Amino acid sequence: MTEHQEFIPPHLAQAPLAIDIRGLNKWYGRFHVLKDIHLRVRQGEKVVVCGPSGSGKSTLIRTVNRLEEHQEGDIVVNGEHLTNDVRQIERVRRETGMVFQQFNLFPHMTILDNVVCGPVHVRNMPRAKALELAMGYLERVGIAEQAAKFPGQLSGGQQQRVAIARALAMQPRIMLFDEPTSALDPEMIKEVLDVMRELAAQGMTMVCVTHEMGFAREAADTMVFMDKGQIVERAPVREFFTAPREERCRQFLDQVL
Ligand code: ADP
Ligand code: MG
Repeated sequence: MTEHQEFIPPHLAQAPLAIDIRGLNKWYGRFHVLKDIHLRVRQGEKVVVCGPSGSGKSTLIRTVNRLEEHQEGDIVVNGEHLTNDVRQIERVRRETGMVFQQFNLFPHMTILDNVVCGPVHVRNMPRAKALELAMGYLERVGIAEQAAKFPGQLSGGQQQRVAIARALAMQPRIMLFDEPTSALDPEMIKEVLDVMRELAAQGMTMVCVTHEMGFAREAADTMVFMDKGQIVERAPVREFFTAPREERCRQFLDQVL
């Protein structure tokens, strides 16, 4: 995109900004991985980020909760400027749930403890209250009956649903997903996407890196296509799939659709 013109989904026109990224540049050593990124996400907006492998999608969403540092530009999350201030970073992380391709559950802890530990240790919630909350989220992702098991006893799809419940138990205002279904067997992808769809329908602000274009069509407001560290196209979901403006984007869609 040459200028930073922006489409705002009409139903979100009045919504405050959840994420505001301006002039973001990042290097890994001498490698320029993110190039002049501008991206605004409104509260309640669902953004799907796609693009070829190595285009910087993971790096971009990891800069939003400071899992990666950036060198240039401004990132504001829920009104907090991301700087080196550790307490600020902690505040942003508390409010920004993240789900990874690899589920990253604690293998030596039960499913329930995996979900309980964040609210208890990070949010200082009384354990009894955290247990109740955790069971509620495990029910929401359809896995309450597995609460006493360990991650290794669950399928990949079930583990990923636990990872979503764990993130939700922190009661975040934003959920970031980095290819949450890429490590799953095909028959388990749907059960995870169903949970994400439901979350989207309930109004959660979501930024999802995924190649699941069926999910994107249904759940996304806005599509972002990245290539070589740049946002090449940002468009309303219908326009993106029916009339992508950029050739690189068209080629990518031809491959994944
Ligand atoms: P994507 O998620 O779109 O596949 P990434 O954000 O993971 O892309 O990576 C973008 C580019 O940055 C790739 O070329 C990758 O090899 C490189 N990269 C990712 N992480 C690091 C790192 N920690 N150090 C150096 N280069 C990295
Ligand atoms: Mg990635």
